[in-house]
Amino acid sequence: MNSQLTTEAIRAKLAELEARADPLEPDQATLREWSRLVSEFGIEFVGRLPETPAYSFNRGSKADGFPISEQPGSLPELLAQVDRQMLRLGLNPASGGHLGYIPGGGVTPSALGDFLAAITNQYAGVFFAGPGAVRMENDLIRWLCELVGYPESALGNLASGGSIANLIAFVTARDAREIDSQSIRRAVIYLTAQVHHCVHKAIRIGGLSEAIVRNIPLDERFRMRADLLAEQVGADLAAGLKPFLVVASAGTTDTGSIDPLAEIATICQREGLWLHVDAAYGGFFLLADDRDLEGRSIPERFAGISQADSIAIDPHKGLFLSYGLGAVLVRDVAALQRSHRYQANYMQDTLDAIEEPSPAELSPELTKHFRGLRMWLPLRLFGISPFRAALEEKLWLCRLFYQEIRERGFEVGPPPELSVCIYRYVPSTGEANEFNRRLVEAVHRDGRVFISSTTIAGQIWLRLAVLSFRTHQREIDYLLELLTQSVNDLVAEFAARVRP
Ligand SMILES: *Cc1c(COP(=O)(O)O)cnc(C)c1O
Repeated sequence: MNSQLTTEAIRAKLAELEARADPLEPDQATLREWSRLVSEFGIEFVGRLPETPAYSFNRGSKADGFPISEQPGSLPELLAQVDRQMLRLGLNPASGGHLGYIPGGGVTPSALGDFLAAITNQYAGVFFAGPGAVRMENDLIRWLCELVGYPESALGNLASGGSIANLIAFVTARDAREIDSQSIRRAVIYLTAQVHHCVHKAIRIGGLSEAIVRNIPLDERFRMRADLLAEQVGADLAAGLKPFLVVASAGTTDTGSIDPLAEIATICQREGLWLHVDAAYGGFFLLADDRDLEGRSIPERFAGISQADSIAIDPHKGLFLSYGLGAVLVRDVAALQRSHRYQANYMQDTLDAIEEPSPAELSPELTKHFRGLRMWLPLRLFGISPFRAALEEKLWLCRLFYQEIRERGFEVGPPPELSVCIYRYVPSTGEANEFNRRLVEAVHRDGRVFISSTTIAGQIWLRLAVLSFRTHQREIDYLLELLTQSVNDLVAEFAARVRP
């Protein structure tokens, strides 16, 4: 410390620094212009979507990076760079032609909610600091709890996605069932080969990789065999093990299958196991009024979900919000708090304000993105009704595709329970896996629509996953025509190979 410094010298230095940092607060005219440029850019992007490919083979080059420098940039140039070096490469998740993985689309008011959340920088971690923001997030969670049929004791957290939602649930289950270093090697987790891979990731991150993981066999529709679960739990108990967690799926990623949740819940209640339902993809179909090809209603398909101890459900999938929002719901909020609540001396002022549980006590995060606005704004602006209609439309689109593709000579998987189905073409000459791999490539090369594939029991299947609010009959018809054309081309090519 230089004791020779006068107060005047310090003030002079501060004045100089303040002037240099001044660009961080642009004047109102500049801010207005920047906001206009960015929103125009976004509006034009959305306007172009019907003509924009869903997929481009182009990955760009390493030379087209995003270097940072001391020099200020110009916003129009930076937006042009985003367009050139980002939006035209790879997958376009905003496109209605996105029929691979699990799409969603990104309803535009979700972006406006993010703008509001970021520009006001509201703090939604602790009730004391952001009572309005925390109330909004908790009320959204309560609406989700109501949707799944949870009691008042339930609450949860708006996380970044389904992976983190599952992780929070497993950590909560681990602590609620008192799995520690003494019991971990006897602890048993039950799931199926069809759980999302993030379930295995969360098991490891949650410190549970030393537990025994049992793969319960599937029925012919890729659903957990509840009878075999009961048998396995019984055998494990008899062997002195500690069964503690069952992970069921309500909408698997590969085939959209829903495990028999009611039967599984009965087993879990009888034996004191924690039941987690991964409804990251399928959960929002609870908003739909629908009968599947066998006449089963939505409440019939999801029967038992309200008995789960925890549930993951992804608003950035089934509510069509922009990426970055998954939710975990826990039937007993005290269990969630037990795993995530800490106090710090520097936060002692926040202790008295306990009208609402704070998200910081219900998740690993402290300072976080205020995710509530990106969900609340679209829901309030549109009302729930168009969301219900869009979800029902997705179920119908999947059924349309399933019937049409079967009529065109494809082999199909089980009739869709939700909006995902699998299909493949079995050629009379040549290897089926190679044929189907080539078929996916042909669709990708075309790029108007995007599909993905999966491998089940060594066989390559193509997947249709309809969940973007922007997907309508037009996209499904285009895919059907493209597949038919591509099959014809490939059949000719395969036949030419075997000809002498
Ligand atoms: C998408 C998905 C996840 C993972 O969720 P993210 O939001 O991508 O992290 C987990 N489970 C299922 C069933 C999913 O479909």
